[in-house]
Amino acid sequence: MLNEGLGGKYASVDKDGNVSLNATEKQIAGFSDEQKGLYDTINGDVTISVSEGSDSVIIGSYALEEIDISDVENFGTGEGANKFSAFGHEVKEQQSKQSEGKGYPEAHADGEAAEKSITGYTR
Ligand SMILES: [Zn+2]
Repeated sequence: MLNEGLGGKYASVDKDGNVSLNATEKQIAGFSDEQKGLYDTINGDVTISVSEGSDSVIIGSYALEEIDISDVENFGTGEGANKFSAFGHEVKEQQSKQSEGKGYPEAHADGEAAEKSITGYTR
């Protein structure tokens, strides 16, 4: 899904489930604004569990540090909010929590701000 959003094979997952990004500067220079927004948003250290069809998580959970990828996929790829912005929101929210110790309202606001850079739209 990330590679679809980035427009190429720039994200890879190792055997332990660690995701790394590996676009070169030249490749990044060729990104659209939305691709660059997604890349910049998810490019950082964060630990998040990914579930599929979780009963306890809707899209993502600040408290559980979890993303339900089925819910994210349901956003689709249209203009405005889409699966990439939904994913980026949750990742940014966790970065703000885990790296900066922000509480839910602040971290969630950071997630919303990140969405704008990914969709190019304000909601
Ligand atoms: Zn949020």
